[in-house]
Amino acid sequence: MARNKSEADPKDQFCSNPDCPDHGEKGAGNIVKYGHDKNGKQRFWCNTCESAFVETKNTVFYNRVLTEDQIIMICKLLVEKNGIRAIERIMEIHRDTVSSVVEDLARHAREVTDFLISNVGLTKVEVDEMWSFVKKNKRKLPEEARKQMDRATVGYT
Ligand SMILES: [Zn+2]
Repeated sequence: MARNKSEADPKDQFCSNPDCPDHGEKGAGNIVKYGHDKNGKQRFWCNTCESAFVETKNTVFYNRVLTEDQIIMICKLLVEKNGIRAIERIMEIHRDTVSSVVEDLARHAREVTDFLISNVGLTKVEVDEMWSFVKKNKRKLPEEARKQMDRATVGYT
């Protein structure tokens, strides 16, 4: 499945700055288009907090130390059963960073599941495998993240 290349509409965007009064607010009229970043992604400007951000399709994949592509790559490596240390080696990203991304993904497991299936083109089976691998591989995950992963695939059609 190809990635959705729909024209980015400011009305579908929300400010990604957590300190902004309009953070997460869609259609509040505060967002305007603001050129493109070096990867060709649409950038937006928030008139409320006067800061720029890239297209926010999915908050888990944006506004972090890694790019969306890097986070998607981590997911794909997890699907192929590469552990944190293997990912550190392959991507040359420190294991603490990888580890915190994986934890963040697990905390938003349902959202991440939807994103990986609809936008990245992974199958439900692959995403299920990814979560069970994460559960086995990362024993120190918070209970809350575990629950989210359990819930992520249950009843998903
Ligand atoms: Zn803002």
